[in-house]
Amino acid sequence: MIQRGATDFPWVPVIERLSAFYGHGDWRVPYLRDHAEDPFQVLIGTILSQRTRDANTDRASAALFAEYPDPDSLAKAPVAHVRQLIRGTGFYRTKAANIQACAREIRDRFGGQVPRDLDVLLGLPGVGRKTANCVLVFGFGEPGIPVDTHVFRIAHRLGVIRARTPEAAEEALRQIVPRDLWIPLNPLLVQHGQNVCRPRQPLCLECPILELCPTGRARRAGRATPRREDRLVLTPSGARPTKIRGPRKPT
Ligand code: SF4
Repeated sequence: MIQRGATDFPWVPVIERLSAFYGHGDWRVPYLRDHAEDPFQVLIGTILSQRTRDANTDRASAALFAEYPDPDSLAKAPVAHVRQLIRGTGFYRTKAANIQACAREIRDRFGGQVPRDLDVLLGLPGVGRKTANCVLVFGFGEPGIPVDTHVFRIAHRLGVIRARTPEAAEEALRQIVPRDLWIPLNPLLVQHGQNVCRPRQPLCLECPILELCPTGRARRAGRATPRREDRLVLTPSGARPTKIRGPRKPT
């Protein structure tokens, strides 16, 4: 669900401030210029990242791709060896089956090329919306909104959506985030979630988007949860927050 006032939320200042804060420079520069990744390895790495920590994913991905870097080699790999290489990511039997099934499909149905289409990606084994969106954004530089735990949490703290699932959050964010901001949104919010807007005890007083965030404004005032006056209704330019007004009484 989209929260009241969220359609005017100042996404550009949010992206600009986070981009400057984390030293990424101009977010308008095409993402893949500096971040080109192999779409196949993005796909497999994101499947491995499901329900585990980033450090486990990084270790397992490095070990796996050192031996089996492409669809053909991974499709032909002995399953026991694949399981051993990715064991640290948890659920490794299921993940091994899924990544090898993916590799076979990409080799046999798509000529060894990862499909560049969200709906086609969603038909691959073990691929949900977050994974498919990651492939689009990080593998192809195409717009997508991968909703992971950081994006989900920060979007709620910003007060722009209320959603029970990542899928519902993605649907709502697609409606309110300008399309040209989709690509930088995930990497910036993930970095922000890891460093400042942490799951517990977010460092609001150090946050570059404090003034734009109702949760931060509430916490600065010593309140645990935002009140009406902490929520934002924005000017058409999106630059200045003002207090929200209550509904007018019927006359
Ligand atoms: S002000 Fe606090 S809650 Fe809001 S985005 Fe920043 S760290 Fe997160």
